[in-house]
Amino acid sequence: MNFESILLPGIDSKRPLVIAGPCSAESEEQVMETAQQLAAEGIKIFRAGVWKPRTKPGGFEGMGSVALKWLQRVKKETGMYVAVEVATQKHVYEALKYGVDMLWIGARTTTNPFAVQEIADTLAGTDIPVLVKNPVNPDLELWIGAIERLYNAGVRKLGVIHRGFSTPDKNVYRNIPQWHIPIELKRRYPNLPIICDPSHMGGKRSLILTIAQQAMDMNYDGLIIESHCSPETALSDKEQQLTPSALSEVIHSLVIRDSIQSTEDLSTLRGQIDELDDKIFELLSKRMRVSREIGQYKLEHDMPVLQTTRYGEILQDRVQQAVKMDMSSEFAKKILEAVHEESVRQQLVVMELARK
Ligand code: PEP
Ligand code: MN
Repeated sequence: MNFESILLPGIDSKRPLVIAGPCSAESEEQVMETAQQLAAEGIKIFRAGVWKPRTKPGGFEGMGSVALKWLQRVKKETGMYVAVEVATQKHVYEALKYGVDMLWIGARTTTNPFAVQEIADTLAGTDIPVLVKNPVNPDLELWIGAIERLYNAGVRKLGVIHRGFSTPDKNVYRNIPQWHIPIELKRRYPNLPIICDPSHMGGKRSLILTIAQQAMDMNYDGLIIESHCSPETALSDKEQQLTPSALSEVIHSLVIRDSIQSTEDLSTLRGQIDELDDKIFELLSKRMRVSREIGQYKLEHDMPVLQTTRYGEILQDRVQQAVKMDMSSEFAKKILEAVHEESVRQQLVVMELARK
């Protein structure tokens, strides 16, 4: 796919591209007050939810089209560009009619190919930039599918927003990052701009700076952050919204590491990594050879391949050992599970060959 830049006229390509504004447009006063304060902090793109997808009915569902008039006022009086979330054909028509400059597709909508197709068809022939949030579930193909639907309809100014993934487990995050998913997306489409949404990822103000810094360290292009003139009275997402001045502080404390120059030291370190990776694979291959020998032994003694108590003990011991060696227990578990799975597969191959 050949993407075109999402940068609007007058916006430079210096990282991070910042989009900021309230979760929801609640009233003309709240929108104007927030917008004026953000403009004074140098923000160039104003976000506001006009139609809000709520998990359950009865919550604040956004003000609807009337709020688009307030956004027109924001454009006129502050000079900022405005961005809204669209989920249906009607939203797209309305947003375009009122001169919205940028659209995004929300996480719940990205999960639904019918909705994405409808939006894509409606956008055919326009050239407004569109940002696609990751789907709520960690499904990279579904995310890419949404991008492809828009691309196939002729939308070229495309970008993505990483807002984290929903999980049933209690977690410090509202939506866990699972950084490997957007990293894989970036590997496949290096020219697709990627923006982080630390507000919906963290779910609370205290996490926003840390997440935003991590995104910058991973070379993300931009940030979309919720900001409200009076967060404590916000009608949605009040725990995660920052005042415009707090938002500005976050942006100014970010350290942007832009050097891509590979120094002598770095190439020596990379050389060490390559050598160590080779050793890891050599060891794994030895490990698998021993597994096959065990398979052979079990075959000759009529023993089953899987002996769960032994595996449980190994897992526990090794994880403890890994933690002592400064690795996370999650990482150790993942590695051991993968090694075990491959071991079992190799033993099953031994059994299968014996049967032939
Ligand atoms: C939002 O940006 O206000 C929003 C609803 O986000 P998400 O789609 O990521 O939940
Ligand atoms: Mn929100």
